[in-house]
Amino acid sequence: MSIRRTYLYSVLFLKCPRCRQGDLLESHPYRISKMNKVHDACPSCHVKYAMEPSFFTGSMYVSYAVGVALAIATYLTTLVLGWELGPAEILWTIVGVLLLLMPYIGAVSKSIWAHFFFAYEPKANQKQPS
Ligand SMILES: [Zn+2]
Repeated sequence: MSIRRTYLYSVLFLKCPRCRQGDLLESHPYRISKMNKVHDACPSCHVKYAMEPSFFTGSMYVSYAVGVALAIATYLTTLVLGWELGPAEILWTIVGVLLLLMPYIGAVSKSIWAHFFFAYEPKANQKQPS
């Protein structure tokens, strides 16, 4: 199995959860005008991403968890790097990292959320649109 077909690659590189080839988002997460806008359907296998209205609203819960995980990772990184920061400096470091990564956190949260609900079908893009 090539790395491009792995679950982790598909989540992190924002691919379709069903075929793992088409893009989940209409554009790059840092393109602010279309920030984290999800395709209506996969460009490759044509599966409809929003299986019900407001389907991606649930990804907010995921983004909270991702944000907390990144905050902890940032703090641990400052410890590993030997930075001797005070509480306010730690806080601002975490806030800075979260602000910089905000578009990607939103995008990867939608990707994780979609991957919860769609099963991987390796030959999905060879089927007719449904
Ligand atoms: Zn697809």
